[in-house]
Amino acid sequence: MINVLFPSGYKCVVCGAEIKPNVFSVCDTCFKLLPHIAGKVCLTCGEPLFSDANYCLNCKNTKHSFTKCFAPFTFENQIVKLIHNLKYDGKKYLAKPLSNFMFKCFMEQNLKVDLVVPVPLHTSRQKERGFNQAEELCNAFVSHGFNVNTTCVSRVKQTTTQTNLNKVERKENLLGAFKVNSRLDVKGKVVLIVDDVYTTGATFNELASVLVKAGASKVFGLTCAHTMLNKS
Ligand SMILES: [Zn+2]
Ligand SMILES: [Zn+2]
Repeated sequence: MINVLFPSGYKCVVCGAEIKPNVFSVCDTCFKLLPHIAGKVCLTCGEPLFSDANYCLNCKNTKHSFTKCFAPFTFENQIVKLIHNLKYDGKKYLAKPLSNFMFKCFMEQNLKVDLVVPVPLHTSRQKERGFNQAEELCNAFVSHGFNVNTTCVSRVKQTTTQTNLNKVERKENLLGAFKVNSRLDVKGKVVLIVDDVYTTGATFNELASVLVKAGASKVFGLTCAHTMLNKS
């Protein structure tokens, strides 16, 4: 009976149960268990807030080059697994459902953007991985007819992995990492930068500052997940 109701081969990307096709590719149970960000968030970085403040501790004391970042999930539980599977196990098919979650989150912000720019990888890193996960996470924007530009900026510095670096080290590590190849593409434009995870915001800051210097009028950021650092 179940095989008659549900077309075979269509599975929840979290638990593997057979499901009816849906844009998020998750079953109802897993959907509910995902670490959705809902409620009050930092007006700058999108971190969930548990106080009356409008900004998290990090953003209260730091000036950012981007206007605002947001994400549908916190970087916890199954989302960590899905993003790791996408990035390190080459499970590219996971980008589509994750991208659909990100697109929904973007639409809820009511923003008008001219250009969508995935955070570029250095060519050697991209060669090693075979693809750029940030670019794959833009695919819902491609299907909705957005101007997704993968060539206007490139990563010119091979940075060491950020994982074990603190906030200051991450910032230094990224200095000079990005270069705008085509000022014409970004001049006067509202840009949305897309990446998989927001951690300290160092990547967004560095890329946004390069884009603003090249004439972008405003820069927003969208990630699949936001790492909880402050718990403020
Ligand atoms: Zn499931
Ligand atoms: Zn913040």
